[in-house]
Amino acid sequence: MTADNWGRVCNGLQSEVGKDAYKNWIEPLKFQGLDGGVAHFVAPTGFIGNWVTRNYSDKICTLFAADGVNVDRLSFSTEQRVLRPVAATTDKPARVATGSPDLPGAPLDARFTFDNFVVGKPNELAHAASRRVAEGGPVTFNPLFLYGGVGLGKTHLMHAIAWEAKQRNPNARILYLSAEQFMYRFVQALRFKDTMSFKELFRSVDLLMVDDVQFIAGKNSTQDEFFHTFNALVDQQKQIVISADRAPGEIDGMEDRIKSRLQCGLVVDLHPTDYELRLGILQSKAEAQAVHYPEVEIVDGVMEFLAHRISTNVRVLEGALTRLFAFASLVGRKVTLEVAQECLSDILRASDRKVTIDEIIRKVADHYNIRMTDILSPRRVRSIARPRQVAMFLAKRLTSKSLPEIGRRFGGRDHTTVIHAVKRIEELRAIDNQISEDVELLRRMLEA
Ligand code: ADP
Ligand code: MG
Repeated sequence: MTADNWGRVCNGLQSEVGKDAYKNWIEPLKFQGLDGGVAHFVAPTGFIGNWVTRNYSDKICTLFAADGVNVDRLSFSTEQRVLRPVAATTDKPARVATGSPDLPGAPLDARFTFDNFVVGKPNELAHAASRRVAEGGPVTFNPLFLYGGVGLGKTHLMHAIAWEAKQRNPNARILYLSAEQFMYRFVQALRFKDTMSFKELFRSVDLLMVDDVQFIAGKNSTQDEFFHTFNALVDQQKQIVISADRAPGEIDGMEDRIKSRLQCGLVVDLHPTDYELRLGILQSKAEAQAVHYPEVEIVDGVMEFLAHRISTNVRVLEGALTRLFAFASLVGRKVTLEVAQECLSDILRASDRKVTIDEIIRKVADHYNIRMTDILSPRRVRSIARPRQVAMFLAKRLTSKSLPEIGRRFGGRDHTTVIHAVKRIEELRAIDNQISEDVELLRRMLEA
């Protein structure tokens, strides 16, 4: 049998298992030859060899058979050029090849670099901390814990750390994966009684990044293993980066000892994007799109409109822009405000739906410590009239309801009352710090 046979088997595998799995598990293997029905390989780690044995040996044997070669089983060793005809199942515990940065982590997205990350107030601390970690050097805070709502850039920052750290130190062993993948690996290891190679793999890295760690809340044995891995790496002064959708203390179902461990380092949150950041991101993404669609022209004001109207989730913002460019290019039209509204009506509507007038009234009442019914009532004392105006202002700004509709929802008032309220709050915001802060805070809470 020749390397050609293996080459053809590889082609078959690639289409059967998919590109990612192929890249993670098959590509790192070095085919050594065949010996009495046993195909020998060198794998970068025992872990990979065991994984391939368990998950792909049937497929591999079948593909060899289709190529006219009889293979009964596979054997893996972790040392180069050592042909040891031992059964893979009795292979000694995996040795992680040192100096090999080929770790079976999740693939990194080439677009998620620091260069492509737009920095604004809501994410500047998270960005700075991520940069610091990527620079390497002595570990000053461990772990770095990044948290925030969906689509705010946590995964992007983690990939950026990996890219940058790799570039600075190509030999660094960097492992990025989601908490879900961590659990999956762990469960597989338990199932196949191979926790040794699992432990070795995770304890041999220089930089471990686990994304969306809230996923393992409530999953007790995975949490335990995570805790031990975590402690082992911290003891060795290896950097850990964790992300979650909320602060460590707020993850229900997470053991207290883990929560407190997670809080030991630097905990940074990514705030919901604000208008300026959204505009910056849109401009940067539009430049990137313009390379693919040089013919598309976007009229002034469209970006501002989108930054105002689309929710804080950057993924949604990106999706909107991509669609807009594709649409404009297909129909050969200039992107005006009307085109944008037409093309993105569903996204705009979905963003609107996020804030309802009821919610606004409730939050405003809470904030000023009055009752919702006070806001809807005819009472005109300042302590109630002012919050009512703030609520009307927010209803106009944060929803797409018409003035008469807003008036109706505020206890059947006339639309001119709403206009007056909006004007009044706009004036007050410029001269009254308290009002301006109240409005800003409420807006943030409602849009979060
Ligand atoms: P999360 O992991 O927090 O849910 P992601 O990191 O997946 O969010 O980000 C969602 C999308 O938004 C990605 O395509 C990412 O590139 C983009 N994105 C988020 N924040 C920024 C930013 N500050 N600059 C550029 N792109 C961003
Ligand atoms: Mg993410």
